[in-house]
Amino acid sequence: MRRTRLLLSMGFVVLLSLAFLITRTDAQPNTIKQIAPGVWFREGDLEHQGHCNNIIIEMKDYLIVVDANFPSGARAAMADAKKISSKPVKYVFDTHHHGDHAYGNAVWTQAGAMTIAYQGVADEMKRYEPARWKASEKERKDVADMKQPGPQPPQQTFTDSPHVITDGTRRVEFRFFGWAHTRGDGFVYLPQERVLCTGDAVANGPYNFTGDGNIGNWPKVVDGALKLNVDHVLPGHGPAGGREVLVGQRAFMLELHNAVQAAIKAGKKVDDLVKSQDGKQLAQLQLPDSVKNWVGPSLPDQIKDAYNEITNKKPAGDLPH
Ligand SMILES: [Zn+2]
Ligand SMILES: [Zn+2]
Repeated sequence: MRRTRLLLSMGFVVLLSLAFLITRTDAQPNTIKQIAPGVWFREGDLEHQGHCNNIIIEMKDYLIVVDANFPSGARAAMADAKKISSKPVKYVFDTHHHGDHAYGNAVWTQAGAMTIAYQGVADEMKRYEPARWKASEKERKDVADMKQPGPQPPQQTFTDSPHVITDGTRRVEFRFFGWAHTRGDGFVYLPQERVLCTGDAVANGPYNFTGDGNIGNWPKVVDGALKLNVDHVLPGHGPAGGREVLVGQRAFMLELHNAVQAAIKAGKKVDDLVKSQDGKQLAQLQLPDSVKNWVGPSLPDQIKDAYNEITNKKPAGDLPH
């Protein structure tokens, strides 16, 4: 199972998510949708290429892109940005260190953009890399073709929140609410347009990878996002939505944590909560229907991470993995 976990951590949710994506009729990979004047949402092709979503924000003289994507996703997003505007991409914000959000950094910087992120993103890269990059090279041609010893770290990092970029036409706030999906989870908030880009701290669908995460703290991070005035939620994976995506994401993590905690109190062991059958893992816990949008093939791993987190009294991402 370690192999699957590593692949998942790099954004290869492809095979495991396949069954779900086929049944999801709202997924529109490789399409661009205008969310507000000068703000576009590009849904990445997760199923076939492992890509994350991108957001393109138009400023007076330049563009800001949210997430670098994998190298092939970076090129696809760059081509779409050129269709939208002749302005150059000045900043690319890595919401976190995962390959599907940051491995395309060098594609953008070679084209003249500056990559920026919270300090926590650079720290996570130091913690996990270049091991994951090297594993990814074996699975992905676009990563291998970069011929790099490891991922290019964000060129500029900061620790203040909000970290504001404004040019008189638009205010863009980079925000940090704590450790949910990774230690470096960055959000991008446009207060005038009431748009929030969440990275993978908030997904719209069964795409939560908890291996590097902090399940117990996850709802508190979403609480921070819920305090903002938000009409449009643009997640790292899955379609764009409204405030209900934040509410549902928060509820899923809370329900997961509570269900596992109750099972532990009832004397259950991890093997009681996830059974192996014919090489497959089967979750023995049911979460309420209200959070079913977030329940999918990763549930057995999410249950194990929650179990380990609670019994070790440490975030899942702090445990050996
Ligand atoms: Zn992702
Ligand atoms: Zn991620």
